[in-house]
Amino acid sequence: MPCLLFAQMPPTTTTLLDLAPAEAAARLNQWVAAEGLPKYRSAQLLRRLWVAPVGSWQDATELPKSVRDRLDAALPLPRLTAEVVQQSQDGTRKFLWALADGEKIESVLIPSGSRRTLCISSQAGCALGCVFCATGRMGFRRNLTAWEIAAQVREIVLLNPEDKPSNIVYMGMGEPLLNWDAVAATLTILNSPDGFGIGARHITVSTVGIVPGMLALAKRPEQFRLAISLHSPHAADRLALMPIEKKYSLQEVLEAAHAFHRRITFEYVLIAGKNDREKDVVALGSLARKLGAHVNLLPLHPGGNPDLTPTAAARIREFRDELITRGVEAVVRRSRGLDIDAACGQLRVKMEPKQRARLHQVEVR
Ligand code: SAH
Ligand code: SF4
Repeated sequence: MPCLLFAQMPPTTTTLLDLAPAEAAARLNQWVAAEGLPKYRSAQLLRRLWVAPVGSWQDATELPKSVRDRLDAALPLPRLTAEVVQQSQDGTRKFLWALADGEKIESVLIPSGSRRTLCISSQAGCALGCVFCATGRMGFRRNLTAWEIAAQVREIVLLNPEDKPSNIVYMGMGEPLLNWDAVAATLTILNSPDGFGIGARHITVSTVGIVPGMLALAKRPEQFRLAISLHSPHAADRLALMPIEKKYSLQEVLEAAHAFHRRITFEYVLIAGKNDREKDVVALGSLARKLGAHVNLLPLHPGGNPDLTPTAAARIREFRDELITRGVEAVVRRSRGLDIDAACGQLRVKMEPKQRARLHQVEVR
């Protein structure tokens, strides 16, 4: 059904903000030359994309008005619209962005000491249907373009340059390694000194284990981090939680993890009776130790599936301690922004339309 297919395709026009900084610089050099402007203008323009971003060229007041007008016409800078910005009591902020075609995505900014970690979305919705996940329940809407992914950082810097994230995790809506081309471009934009200049070790891609994507990420020379959402060390139990197990088995995912040659993290959502038993901690401990992997234990956020019960806090601590006893580095990730449903990876709240409307009234900026 071609019309359905079209509905799921992202907008196709490439903007400057879709390009890696080196390509954007080349495009700007061409434009500056064609306009008969002095060469130095090109570096000035490049800075305004990510390093010291402007919302529109009109704000780049170091440029003559006529140049700003021509830029707005020839190379417009697309924007996300902040529809809702919610602040939790613990300082966590959740942003709901509206895209040009009406899709909605979310990002969560989590301050912790001197760090500001931003959790970003890579797709609107997700096709993979993990049974505990609210995004999975929505189904797949479409891939985000590179600029839509990187704009989640850009818009926050535009709102307040002091909020610029120090760390990025691709743990929002969607499966980043099923949108590899766009994600690969954004990794460069985030990391490059002519982009946001965020260190590669401070950028983490989280995946359910899309093997070709893991291999592509492994080939990148930068030290980007990889987190694998494991959720069970037993293939049959994993399949009951994550349908992707049918396509990329636990075994294949672990082999790809070995081939990554950099330290990885396992994400592990604890669900009562499903993956928090003695046999689970024993098997998880053994495979994490073999890989030298770090384990992040995540308390189940109940919003994803009311039929699943979160593991009790005492059992979570016991599970962590047993992993540590078995020689594995393990931490329990504190739930942040629970009062605004901002648990990372759990971004989109299934709100009743009325509730959503009320939020809009109070919080649209
Ligand atoms: N699709 C990728 C990245 C987005 S999900 C992935 O699955 O890794 C980011 C993280 O949030 C994953 O580890 C996911 O398992 C976790 N998550 C999803 N639903 C959750 C819930 N209800 N409670 C706690 N963590 C959840
Ligand atoms: Fe998709 Fe990740 Fe949610 Fe699974 S946990 S449905 S892969 S977003």
